Amino acid sequence: MELLDGKKISNDIKDEIAAEVAAMKQRGERAPHLAAVLVGNDGASLTYVGAKVRSCERVGFDSTLVKYETDVTEAELLAKIDELNNDDAIDGFIVQLPLPKHIDEQKVIMAIDPSKDVDGFHPTNFGKMALDMETFLPATPFGVMELLDRYKIETSGKHCVVIGRSHIVGRPMSILMGRKGNPGDSTVTLTHSRTQNLEAICKQADIVISALGVPNFVKAEMVKEGAVVVDVGIHRIPDNSEKGYHITGDVDFEAVSKKASYITPVPGGVGAMTIAMLLKNTLIAGQNRKR
Ligand code: NAD
Repeated sequence: MELLDGKKISNDIKDEIAAEVAAMKQRGERAPHLAAVLVGNDGASLTYVGAKVRSCERVGFDSTLVKYETDVTEAELLAKIDELNNDDAIDGFIVQLPLPKHIDEQKVIMAIDPSKDVDGFHPTNFGKMALDMETFLPATPFGVMELLDRYKIETSGKHCVVIGRSHIVGRPMSILMGRKGNPGDSTVTLTHSRTQNLEAICKQADIVISALGVPNFVKAEMVKEGAVVVDVGIHRIPDNSEKGYHITGDVDFEAVSKKASYITPVPGGVGAMTIAMLLKNTLIAGQNRKR
C-alpha cells in the first residue's frame, strides 16, 4: 500500500504557485488577490476560511476576508458580491458554504461573476466542466484529479465508484472521472443514499472515491484487493485529547489500507489538496485578468 500524500503534493503545488507569483512580481505585475466571504461563526467554516487566508500569505497572494454575522440579510450579501464582481483589484472570490437558512445559496452562487468564481460552483463553470471546456474546476474534485495525476494512477478503462452526489464533490467528481483524458476515461458509477447493493457495487471498483460524509462507512469487505481508495470525508470526532477532537474520514483506514494499493489518509489527503487547488484557480484567474 502506498499513501496518496495530499500534504506533500499540496506543498509542492504551493511552492510552484509561489514561484509563479514571485516571477509575476518581478515583471512588475501585482500578485493575485483572493477574497473570502464568511457568514456566521460555524467552527468548521472558520477553520477552513482561516486556512485559505493563511495559504494566500504562504504563496504571496493578497487576500481579503469579509466577515458577516449570521443575521446578515440576503440583500446585503448580494450587494457585497456585486461589489467584489466589480472590484478590479480582486481576481477571484469564494463565499464559504453552508450559508444560514434565510439566505438562498443558489441565488448567491448565481450572483458571482463566473470569471471570478474560483470555487467553480457557478452553473457556467459547471457546464463548461461537463463540456470539456477550460474553466475553474471545483477545488475538491480538482484536488483528487491532481493527486491521481501526480501519483500516475492508471484511470483509463477502470471502474470508478463515487459515493455521494453532492454538487460540490460527488457529482463533479463523477463527471471528471468520466471525461476524456488522463486522469479520466474511467467507467463511472455514481452512488448515493438511494443506491441498492452499494457494498457489491463498491467491491467491483478499481477506484473508490468516497464523499458521503459518514465516518468509517467504507469497510474492508466493501473494497477489492488492490483498489485505489480516495477518502474525501472529513469528520471531527470528539475525544479526550487537548484539542477535544480528532479528524477522521469516510473510510475505515486501519482495515481498508491493508487491502488498497493506494489510499489517501485523513487528515493529510484530499483536504490539503482542496486549498492548493483553490490557490491554483486564483492564480489562473489572476493570469486571465492580465490577458
Ligand atoms: P453532502 O452531505 O452534501 O452529500 C452527501 C452525499 O452522500 C449525498 O449525495 C447522499 O446521497 C450521499 N449519501 C449519504 N448517505 C449515504 C449512504 N449511506 N450511502 C450512499 N450515499 C450516501 O456532503 P458533501 O458536501 O459532498 O461532503 C461529503 C463529505 O466530504 C463530508 O464529510 C465533508 O465534510 C467532506 N468534504 C471534504 C472536503 C475536502 O476538502 N476534503 C470538501 C468538501 C466536503
